[in-house]
Amino acid sequence: METWYNKYPERWAQEQQALQEAHINFQINTALEAKGILQLKLAISEQSKITVPLKFLPLSLAVNFPTNYPYFRPEVYAPELNLPRHQHVLHKNLCLLNRATNNWLPETTLADFLIDQIPKVLAEGEITDPHILESIQGEQAEPVSEYYRSVLNASVTFNPEPFDSMPFGQMTVELLGTMRVGIPPTGSVPTRMTVLESFDIDQQLLDRLPEGVAESFPPRLTGGVYRLNERPPNVEVMKDFKWFLGLLDNQNEKLLKPKNPVVLKDGYKIENVIALTFPEEHLPGKQASGWLFVIIYIMPVRKIINKKIVSVNEKYYYYAKANRINNAELSFRISSLKPLVNKKVTVFGLGALGGPSVLEFARNGVKELKIVDNDIVNAGTTVRWPLGVAYAGMYKADALKEHIYSNYPFTEVRPYVYKVGGEDTPDQQKLQEILADTSLIYDATAEIGVNHFLSLEAQQRKIPYVCVYGTPGVWGGVCLRIVPGITEGCWMCFQYSLVDGTIPVPPLNRDGDIQAAGCGDISFMGASFELANIVNSGVRQVVGILCSGEGGGYHDLNADVGILSLVDDFGNPKFPSWLSYQLKKHPQCPYCNTKTK
Ligand SMILES: [Zn+2]
Repeated sequence: METWYNKYPERWAQEQQALQEAHINFQINTALEAKGILQLKLAISEQSKITVPLKFLPLSLAVNFPTNYPYFRPEVYAPELNLPRHQHVLHKNLCLLNRATNNWLPETTLADFLIDQIPKVLAEGEITDPHILESIQGEQAEPVSEYYRSVLNASVTFNPEPFDSMPFGQMTVELLGTMRVGIPPTGSVPTRMTVLESFDIDQQLLDRLPEGVAESFPPRLTGGVYRLNERPPNVEVMKDFKWFLGLLDNQNEKLLKPKNPVVLKDGYKIENVIALTFPEEHLPGKQASGWLFVIIYIMPVRKIINKKIVSVNEKYYYYAKANRINNAELSFRISSLKPLVNKKVTVFGLGALGGPSVLEFARNGVKELKIVDNDIVNAGTTVRWPLGVAYAGMYKADALKEHIYSNYPFTEVRPYVYKVGGEDTPDQQKLQEILADTSLIYDATAEIGVNHFLSLEAQQRKIPYVCVYGTPGVWGGVCLRIVPGITEGCWMCFQYSLVDGTIPVPPLNRDGDIQAAGCGDISFMGASFELANIVNSGVRQVVGILCSGEGGGYHDLNADVGILSLVDDFGNPKFPSWLSYQLKKHPQCPYCNTKTK
């Protein structure tokens, strides 16, 4: 393997020269160099051209250059320092830059980097006062739980909120409650886990994740939840756990002896899961609750005892991190979508536009989706459907419901295998049920008769109506909204506006429709990534309508009609362009001109 210092010898020479000029003594770790890793041991003294307070001198540093230096920054360790901030509590590396790579300039030499950053980290690393930290630009929170190593990024999905809101006691350790833990049937150490339910010390239910989560994580184990008044001190799971046991009285220790360990498919057994919470930074200098999980498992090990090979069960421990889940976390990340958690959307038509739109609504936290379609998932059309062959033959409504149930569990989905305008259903009654209590109708049926009918249903109910469709060949598309009190015209006005050209007809491919083998209907020809343009704009339009009225909500698009072109005048693909229009009352519309007729 070619090392960076062989590949760029002039750079390596430049680095050494810069260190010498700054009077920073350095030694190369020759043992590591033989393995192609460049590590330097540095000695900073009073003669060095780095501004370091006397109390830190002489200062020893170790520097590891990454394999792809200088594109990525070197890691600097200060093994003899103990800074309260800006230093890894265990590994002792210094936090010299904000973590993102865009803070590192590849032309910077190590010497310049140290001259620039070491004085800052030594000064700021000793500050713990939140008021001062608040005033330092670019200061990041340093959640201490990040320093604890988990095995292969093991995590426990968990809603910490009910425990976080419990008032702090004075005890060094306190049992807060218990948790019911789900583990996937296929799990092996270190397995993924989810806390399905949590209880207080009186076994009162505090929180339960939506039941869809238990599909993937069947409940298998109960563990204790403990609050510590300081983080586990050793940053090493075995030592920390011993320390933790030392804090407990006999009463609490009972929870640490589970009756039924969970046997995993590889023969390992999960014996216990313990949640630990302790104060940690969540804003610079400000404390909130950090979380770690101690997983105790039993592994069969072959050993030689009295010259015989015997299988012995040995106990091991590892740390897992909290993988936070709740709807508040979602709205924390995208706060403008918060109003969606109270909205109910009914989607008609679950094809190549409706299907992906439904997933967008679920992903973004719409409270309830009623989804309506009477077709099944065809293996052949999965090229433009969001779910694949695993769902072939299922009703589209049921397939989407199943997927959302286990993946976006905070959204409730009600599937309806139903055809609007079908003969064999007691139509009106079923439709009443589907449309009861809905915030918005999203019409992706791409059938003009259904569009006409549903737009009138929405009008009667005084709820917004959004209609999306693509043109043949998906050369273009339409997003239309009719919002009571905002949109002047109606669906029929839109038809007249297309006819007289007040709103342009989007481009269409006259050879763009095909009839697939064995299929009675003419179907679309067009790729999912073309259709995605229409889906995204239709969803944006809906989100704007549903959120804009509420403080801080996603802004309304302020246009009734979007007309999409995906091709130029010769029918060649181009970057998408949208034109937007307001839908006015059309003088010829029979609905809007009843008095003058
Ligand atoms: Zn009209």
